[in-house]
Amino acid sequence: EPAGSRSAVRNIKDEATRKKVEEILNSCVLDDATIKKIMDVFEDQINLANTLDPEKRKKSNLLWECTYVRNLLTGKENGEYLGLDLGGTNFRVVRVVMKDGEATTTTKYYNLDDKILSGPCQHIFDHIAESLESFLKEENITASCLPVGFTFSFPSDQKSLKNSILVTWTKSFKCPDGVGQDACVMLEEAIARRKDMPVKLDVMARISDTTGALMAGNYADKKCRIGVILGTGSNAAFVERIENYNKFEGKDPDTKQIIVNTEWGAFGDNGCCDFYRNDFEREVDKYSNHVNSFTFEKSFSGMYLGELVRLVMVKLVDEGCLFKGNPCPELKKRWEFPTSYVTSIEEDTDTSKNTWSVLKALNLADVATEEDVAIVRETCAVVSERGAKIVAAALAVLLQHINLPEVTIAFDGSVYEKHPKFRIHIADLLAKLVPTTKCTMIMVKDGSGQGAAFVAAVEYKPS
Ligand code: BGC
Ligand code: MG
Repeated sequence: EPAGSRSAVRNIKDEATRKKVEEILNSCVLDDATIKKIMDVFEDQINLANTLDPEKRKKSNLLWECTYVRNLLTGKENGEYLGLDLGGTNFRVVRVVMKDGEATTTTKYYNLDDKILSGPCQHIFDHIAESLESFLKEENITASCLPVGFTFSFPSDQKSLKNSILVTWTKSFKCPDGVGQDACVMLEEAIARRKDMPVKLDVMARISDTTGALMAGNYADKKCRIGVILGTGSNAAFVERIENYNKFEGKDPDTKQIIVNTEWGAFGDNGCCDFYRNDFEREVDKYSNHVNSFTFEKSFSGMYLGELVRLVMVKLVDEGCLFKGNPCPELKKRWEFPTSYVTSIEEDTDTSKNTWSVLKALNLADVATEEDVAIVRETCAVVSERGAKIVAAALAVLLQHINLPEVTIAFDGSVYEKHPKFRIHIADLLAKLVPTTKCTMIMVKDGSGQGAAFVAAVEYKPS
């Protein structure tokens, strides 16, 4: 049974208010049949995505990309590698030194100014190259040439391990250009524009953060077969048996497996998820950077979770059930209720300390009652649980598809790391939906960048 806020909501004194609150919150609750349907539809979309028939292929928004990554770490790797990670809230440079398979990792974060994300993308790549140069200098890197794996976490049409074409920006990136371009080429051009790079860099792979998380997870635990990002955006990659995968041409007898990047964020863009979406999800989409796209992701990822909660609260206010009679100008500002508020409110247990702090930040602490606090907490709980269940439904399908008795799933991203209950809801539902697989969930902090260095380590063939 969930925390006290649920029973507090059940005990709201005014009956009309209580009924209204329950009705609005119930519109966010997913029943078992709906979860089952999400699974069925996701499975259909996977099967369509995996065909070679172009007409069928068009009926699925899942890219189901070939990553060209066929090797996992063997434990014999040696040498020095770099991972660059672009796609979340900041840019990261990761240095990995491998000694007989043991990795020593150094990670640095570089700010990505919000402004730069809506300007010409050359500025982003120049910023990356500049950060990279200072990293190499600060770390006194003396190698003559370093293999580089580039984590570029946007849907891309992968042509080879290195070459990929950007399909669309997502999340908070909205550059007017870049679509149709090759991420590694743009990176190499930016590196070439720097006149004082201390080390020669060999950019040899573009991966997605999910592939990175999977590689990093597999380093930590050999049973790791799935990498999931639950951060600003969301996505999953997994190790597929080669005979199950149709989109890879270069099959040779030595290839037994390949990492597939699902790009599940776009699941539902063709309307196949409309049956579960509610008014709040539709409104989030309507005011998002990329309307009518990344439907699935908008139900739960970090860029949207706070906004979903905010919209439910606004509805409660408009219906007269919350902060009664008081105008809530701060609460009514779009995108100004970050997911970190949800996370912090969900951390409250016996006291409502964090909830009061958030209300204070919204200028609502003076008007809120204990009943309001309970409703706010319950809204966060319900919207979070809904999001976690939606992710778990898709993950359950991947687990069934992989069909192994034991699978470890590696997660990276702020929602997984910081939200106190999200991972618990996911674990609970997975245990229920896929009882035949013993599933372990691990966190691979900064795995997305470290994994790029690992891909460089396993795939680098010095010429
Ligand atoms: C992107 C994916 C990425 C995910 C997590 C999504 O918006 O399309 O490529 O893996 O976010 O960062
Ligand atoms: Mg392709």
